[in-house]
Amino acid sequence: MAYATINPYNNKVVKEYPNATEKELQAALATGHARYKKNRQQPIAERAKILHNVAAKLREHSDELARACTIDMGKLLSESKGEVELVAMIADWFADHGEEMLAPEKIDTIATGTAEVHHSPTGIVVLVEPWNFPYYQIMRVFAPNFMVGNPMILKHASNTPTSAKMFADIVAEAGAPKGSLVNLFLTYDQVTEAIKDPRVQGVALTGSERGGTSVAAAAGKSLKKNTMELGGMDPFVVLGDANMDDVNNVAWRARLYNAGQVCTSSKRFIVMDNVYDQFVEDLKKNFSKVVPGDPLDPATSLAPMNSKKAKNKLQKQVDAAIAAGAKVAYGNKPIDLPGQFFMPTILTDIDKNNPAYSEEMFGPVATVYKVHSEKEAVEVANDNPYGLGGILFAGDANHGAEVATQIETGMVYVNNFMASLPELPFGGVKLSGYGREMSHMGEMAFTNEQLIVKADKPNLDNVAGGLVAGDVPTAKDAPKAKKTSKAK
Ligand code: NAP
Repeated sequence: MAYATINPYNNKVVKEYPNATEKELQAALATGHARYKKNRQQPIAERAKILHNVAAKLREHSDELARACTIDMGKLLSESKGEVELVAMIADWFADHGEEMLAPEKIDTIATGTAEVHHSPTGIVVLVEPWNFPYYQIMRVFAPNFMVGNPMILKHASNTPTSAKMFADIVAEAGAPKGSLVNLFLTYDQVTEAIKDPRVQGVALTGSERGGTSVAAAAGKSLKKNTMELGGMDPFVVLGDANMDDVNNVAWRARLYNAGQVCTSSKRFIVMDNVYDQFVEDLKKNFSKVVPGDPLDPATSLAPMNSKKAKNKLQKQVDAAIAAGAKVAYGNKPIDLPGQFFMPTILTDIDKNNPAYSEEMFGPVATVYKVHSEKEAVEVANDNPYGLGGILFAGDANHGAEVATQIETGMVYVNNFMASLPELPFGGVKLSGYGREMSHMGEMAFTNEQLIVKADKPNLDNVAGGLVAGDVPTAKDAPKAKKTSKAK
């Protein structure tokens, strides 16, 4: 059976789920479409109330949700609890700000009458989500689309079905009308079938390049709008004057959080030569302090990876890196526990021909590069197929921010850990994908930007193609370019 919860701590099959039937998919499309039509008539404020209620229900069921998430994919229980709270915060933020973000915007124009852009729903959006943050990944797309009125069909990862079901149950319990979010255990073929359906108007995928290219190709074939949140090899740049206590405090967490399975984990540490040795020593010390064990036990600080397949893939990548000349500064030894544990590992001396130079390693493996100038640091940071996020430590934050603008990624945090918050846009460039989730940008990802130009009477002089020389508007008639303003 494809969808199953297999506890990565002890490899026990906890629960299996049958794939969705054709009938279930057709029912979800029909209910979703009916919901879309109704949502077009429903005041946004009504959905805001329901979304606040989703947040309340998430908090009410926080313990069970966190436990289910840990058993599904292995993360520390404290991390699962943090995820549930973050997800509730995202729901509250979109409930608080959605109506304002979606208010019509006035445009200064020389057209006769007034012009406004209205942000309206477009139809069903298909969500294809990964296992690494089972609730957060759904909420990043669910909250903005729920507010605008797009119903959703969720296809979650095959190894986090229990979390997927629980999220959908919470949404229903919070009072969201039928069809708002339907979780289905879809096969890849059924995902393609859903994308083709004319009632579906958008696809949001978070996942790997492999999943992204398949789903984006299916979306492209049917001309469906899509957003792709893909992998990353985020640089963590340490300039020569950085506060090394702060660096030391953040670096190991930025790599080991969620057992290193975060798209925005710092995967490449790019360190100036004068602080390189100290950096590697400190990272070793911190990596050696983590304690593997049951992720439900508060004493555990190193969780297992999410699956045997993921662990085996990472081991192969580390072996290939070493075969190509990388040195092991720390780790790469087995952990004597039955679960899918991977010892935190530090690799150095990686040259451009090493596969580790340009392949994402999705687990607790840090690669460290020594550089001799800021220019070289930026070059190494940018010499990569991905462009998601990054962290940069500098003695002077303003200078750090200037250097950050040279880094070709969607997000850079200067002198701090990366924080994913609802008001901040999230997404990348290059192979990390396109589009943005969260913030006002995420709110508009699948809206119809409908232009309504309203006149009391036609002005036929101004009909395109029917203009006479004297009526042609000149530059001086055009309103000064300025930001559109909210209509209300
Ligand atoms: P994945 O294999 O691409 O899976 C992600 C989702 O896509 C799963 O639901 C998967 O279903 C589905 N999927 C894969 N191929 C598909 C296809 N051909 N048709 C339909 N659905 C398909 O990704 P992963 O390796 O599990 O996840 C880790 C990756 O996600 C990493 O590269 C990480 O960096 C990236 N990620 C990116 C972000 C971001 O915001 N940029 C956030 C988190 C993770 P199954 O489980 O059934 O295969």
